[in-house]
Amino acid sequence: MAGTLYLVATPIGNLGDFSPRAAEVLSSVDLIAAEDTRRTLQLMNHFGITKPLTSYHEHNKRTKGEYIVSLLKEGKDIAQVSDAGTPAISDPGEDLVKLCIENDITVTSVPGPVAGINALILSGMNTRRFSFEGFLSVNKRHRHEHLASVKDDTRTLIFYEAPHKLKATLADMRECFGGSRRIALVRELTKLHEEIVRTDLDGACAKYENDTPRGEYVLVIEGAAERTEDTEDTWWSALSIKEQVNKYIAEGMTSKEAIKRTAEDRNVPKREIYNEYHHK
Ligand code: SAM
Repeated sequence: MAGTLYLVATPIGNLGDFSPRAAEVLSSVDLIAAEDTRRTLQLMNHFGITKPLTSYHEHNKRTKGEYIVSLLKEGKDIAQVSDAGTPAISDPGEDLVKLCIENDITVTSVPGPVAGINALILSGMNTRRFSFEGFLSVNKRHRHEHLASVKDDTRTLIFYEAPHKLKATLADMRECFGGSRRIALVRELTKLHEEIVRTDLDGACAKYENDTPRGEYVLVIEGAAERTEDTEDTWWSALSIKEQVNKYIAEGMTSKEAIKRTAEDRNVPKREIYNEYHHK
């Protein structure tokens, strides 16, 4: 019987975030495929895990992927870990998952930290609809095309960025989205110097005129404002049910009327709105 590929999340800074199940799985597999074997070895030493390691990264993923699949076919269980966080999120792993699926190999995950999601929940931006954009290309034209393609997206946007490219990225974002677009610069998550700066793109560019960017960053950008012609019937789409009911009440409706109107707007049963309003 073929083995299983385990995608194992590792900490994004704080070793305390390494889960007991992650340790258990790394201790039980036959082989660990790591993006950076030295870094993974440090983690394994810290948790007393001794297992064979092999490298699996951007530059060897084609050949190494085939090798890993051949071992899985022989019945070996293999864990894949990235540098930090969740494999296959702006990390090698995506291709290995596809290859395993093509070869009928079972793939499962041991979930854990994702920098983008943690930055999003700390940003104070709308978390109901968001788009993960990963890294911008180093190629100037591709960067601009990427930014232009999400300029009018009303969802919250999440970008990863390296410190040495931060200033240029903020300048490009300001040029494309405008200086008043809100941004949260989320830095060094779960580490000693964790910092969240909530400002707009003008403020962010001004801050880094003097400061030198240091550490790892996630940039969370507010979505574009809804266009009025789209919002006529759905002005409430950015509100939670509770917020919408409260808005009607503030405008003078009784709570019963407000619940009824909210249910009509959303074309859902009144009971659903009632339950959401009273019990959450
Ligand atoms: N797979 C990882 C995940 O689950 O988030 C992401 C790996 S990607 C190669 C590395 C990028 O993630 C960094 O450049 C930074 O943008 C972001 N990142 C990773 N750790 C972070 C941290 N502790 N604080 C802020 N951003 C972080």
